[in-house]
Amino acid sequence: MSADEIKKELASILRAVRIRIEIEKGFGIDTITVSRPNKLNVQRSSNLLAEKQSMKTPDIDGRKRQTEGTNKRSSKDATKPLSDQTSVTEKGEGVQMLETLRNEMLVCHKCSLGKARTNLVFGVGNPRATLMFVGEAPGRDEDLQGEPFVGRAGQLLTKIIEAIGLKRNDVYIANVLKCRPPGNRAPLPEEIVLCMPYLLKQIEIIQPKVLCALGTFAAQTLLSTKAPVGTLRGRFHDYKGIPIMVTFHPAYLLRNPNDKAKVWEDMKKVRDLLSELSGKDLKI
Ligand code: SF4
Repeated sequence: MSADEIKKELASILRAVRIRIEIEKGFGIDTITVSRPNKLNVQRSSNLLAEKQSMKTPDIDGRKRQTEGTNKRSSKDATKPLSDQTSVTEKGEGVQMLETLRNEMLVCHKCSLGKARTNLVFGVGNPRATLMFVGEAPGRDEDLQGEPFVGRAGQLLTKIIEAIGLKRNDVYIANVLKCRPPGNRAPLPEEIVLCMPYLLKQIEIIQPKVLCALGTFAAQTLLSTKAPVGTLRGRFHDYKGIPIMVTFHPAYLLRNPNDKAKVWEDMKKVRDLLSELSGKDLKI
């Protein structure tokens, strides 16, 4: 290798390191552990992202958010079929199945949360996502906007997604419960039991390659366990043949920022598995 080529290679590595530091700072991590790499295969992910975006996958519930303010739901959100909320001309089978499921949920009153909600919070993102996040339940902002993870915790989740080289629209995001528990209290076991079939159906339709459970309720619901998230996180489990990473909920991270580094470790494993499964390098 000539001196010029070495200079170019070093410049490219430095550029990649600078980008990585910027991302990790954005993710809220101010210290970086350096380990000996197996290979110096540092590649910008912009081409991959452009490739992903060019797939033009429609956004089942995110193009137009429900913004019905404080109007009580039921008949109001039920009158807005998903097809009216989108400008998608080509609908895949998965999109139609999600739409049917959403329409079913719009009139759901299986538990008492259905009466109190402002909007149903169905889910948002790419209906053919390879990565699907599952959270707990809508909070105030989500209830008002009809979309999961739109408050401060949602902004942090978006940073987490971007930190692994993806965009929010690349993934699918849903909660265990589709209606807001009053006062943001924890979901009750009977509410989870009644609502869980909807989440399972969403997973069945989307068929993600990798799942990520955010927090205790999502992890315990999908893995049928009582084990705390602290002991489940950091490694892949199995959900009906789909690898599922368990990690802390972004709302927990807002209260416990020191644990962001643990989530970053978990998400790097998700990123690496996605790279492996897709044959593409998502590393920045
Ligand atoms: S939380 Fe789930 S089960 Fe309860 S009313 Fe809402 S959609 Fe139905």
